[in-house]
Amino acid sequence: MTTTAQQSEAAAAVTTWLADFSAALAANDPAGAAALFTEDCFWRDLISFTWNIRTFEGRAEVTRMLEATLPRVQPAGWTVTDGEEPAAADGITEAWVNFETSAGRGHGHLRLRGGQCWTLLTTLYELKGYEEPKGLRRPVGAEHGVNRDRTSWLEDREHETRNLGITEQPYVLIVGGGQAGIGLAARLRQLRVPAIVIDKRARPGDQWRSRYKSLCLHDPVWYDHMPYLKFPDNWPVFSPKDKIADWLESYTKIMELNYWPNTEAKSASYDEASQEWTVNVERDGQAVVLRPKQLVLATGMSGKPSIPSFPGMDKFRGDQHHSSGHPGPDAYQGKRCVVIGSNNSAFDICGALWESGADVTMVQRSSTHIVRSSTLMDIGLSALYSEQAVDSGITTDKADLIFASIPYRIMHLFQIPLYDQMRERDKDFYDRLERAGFDHDWGDDGSGLFMKYLRRGSGYYIDVGAADLVANGDVRLVRGQVDHLTEDAVVLADGTSLPADLVVYATGYTSMNGWAADLISREVADKVGKCWGLGSDTTKDPGPWEGEQRNMWKPTRQEALWFTGGNLHQSRHYSLYLGLQLKARQAGLPTPVYGLQEVHHLG
Ligand SMILES: Cc1cc2nc3c(=O)[nH]c(=O)nc-3n(C[C@H](O)[C@H](O)[C@H](O)COP(=O)(O)OP(=O)(O)OC[C@H]3O[C@@H](n4cnc5c(N)ncnc54)[C@H](O)[C@@H]3O)c2cc1C
Repeated sequence: MTTTAQQSEAAAAVTTWLADFSAALAANDPAGAAALFTEDCFWRDLISFTWNIRTFEGRAEVTRMLEATLPRVQPAGWTVTDGEEPAAADGITEAWVNFETSAGRGHGHLRLRGGQCWTLLTTLYELKGYEEPKGLRRPVGAEHGVNRDRTSWLEDREHETRNLGITEQPYVLIVGGGQAGIGLAARLRQLRVPAIVIDKRARPGDQWRSRYKSLCLHDPVWYDHMPYLKFPDNWPVFSPKDKIADWLESYTKIMELNYWPNTEAKSASYDEASQEWTVNVERDGQAVVLRPKQLVLATGMSGKPSIPSFPGMDKFRGDQHHSSGHPGPDAYQGKRCVVIGSNNSAFDICGALWESGADVTMVQRSSTHIVRSSTLMDIGLSALYSEQAVDSGITTDKADLIFASIPYRIMHLFQIPLYDQMRERDKDFYDRLERAGFDHDWGDDGSGLFMKYLRRGSGYYIDVGAADLVANGDVRLVRGQVDHLTEDAVVLADGTSLPADLVVYATGYTSMNGWAADLISREVADKVGKCWGLGSDTTKDPGPWEGEQRNMWKPTRQEALWFTGGNLHQSRHYSLYLGLQLKARQAGLPTPVYGLQEVHHLG
């Protein structure tokens, strides 16, 4: 319980720090400003100082960043956010702050330790002169008065739909109309950036519709809102896949997006001289050439299947497909099904096959982290994303910023104690899994699911029931590497033969820059390098440390090429910063990028 005296002390510490910090910045004194940080400080900037997404570690990096950016950024107006009292606990004082730069307005979050700043988050939320038409700026909608040339909203929309991409070029082309593509498109519409989203599938939401029929979102509703349009209060906690598909389809209409279904991007090239892309697309079977200034690949982090190549696959006489192409269990009642892999999709598919009476074997090739959904909700997410969090004033926007305020370098330290609690709470469950021979891990450093997701985007299962089937032996578990397939079996390296009518390759997805290779060129894909991961030097996330997710929502080494994707939380939050970066360019604002990332891995 924080007392009034502690609150005043916290407020005073923050006021003093902000005054000193503002004075150092106003005096253009990078070293002086950096001296107000602890030696082991972190400053995470989401485009407000750097036009980049970067975390600076230690005073020297902070100093260098400020030396490069201060004269242009001219930060000012640092104040504690109205209604947000600074609070102190365990020797850390936390505060929400507002500030301005020459280009826009920002929100920040700081943690002080011993009067110095330990972590600082700075984010830009709007550009001056290009504020979104919301709140007091809400559009009137109706045009009162008399006007002989009056056009209706519908006529205007139809005019736009007829012309954009045909007689007028979009400023931004977004390839991929999943949640990432349409969330960004919604932001761009509010920022008045002409944009088209294309998707090769027939209807918005089809990416979800096409997945196996038992799928429900693994993340709860509070984590999943789209930008601007929250799910209603009676929306289920875990949305069934066809329901989320319908929501996304409705979203494209409600948010007035220029969405071209049945449209596949076939190839793209960038002309340095005209600073323009030429993108060849096929729309309803017709060739169309689009010439956007900016190209965003929203083609899916879990969109490009990683399909193994085992000898004998061509000889196998049963059905075989990647998990992304699995139709569901209906045709496999009483059949022998071998699922290769032991992560989310593998478990979901094994569970559904077992429910419909198939004989199911899971082949585990490497260790997997499992956490029970209810435990994850209670211990991992409830503080930020839950009904209780909402009731205690933690809005989705606030939760997103709190999450963003924890530097990736130390995030595992916040996560490890949570996963220790989970291990304790579900001890019996893990003991049973272990007895069944399941190779379980908690991440290389015990930091669990979120860190695995951020580092490698794979290697886990959020258990919604199927783990018990493995623990009980209802789903047979076999550990080992696949050596080859015969006409009717999967054969492992140790000679074990698993008779099969169906083989599902639940073997994951490849890096998003593979899409750039397909669409643009291998050269551009290599120039840009691997997408995702932090460089944590843990399994499947090779170092060196990069501090931010590679290539996501920020400038890449290929001019005018951007990537977006990830879960619903990330698509929602980071689309704001990607949208503002694109708007700034469209408006012709100077956007010098500080600290463009190095490329250490090709994919
Ligand atoms: C089984 C499974 C369960 C999941 N569960 C969750 C969950 O619970 N919560 C969560 O947040 N995430 C979940 N995910 C992750 C999920 O992939 C993403 O959240 C979501 O689909 C990503 O959205 P996206 O917009 O980035 O990409 P996608 O939804 O994959 O959309 C990419 C789109 O790009 C289109 N496309 C690709 N190439 C082209 C081209 N050349 N031209 C035109 N269009 C093209 C595709 O047709 C596709 O529609 C799950 C994923 C899987 C596979």
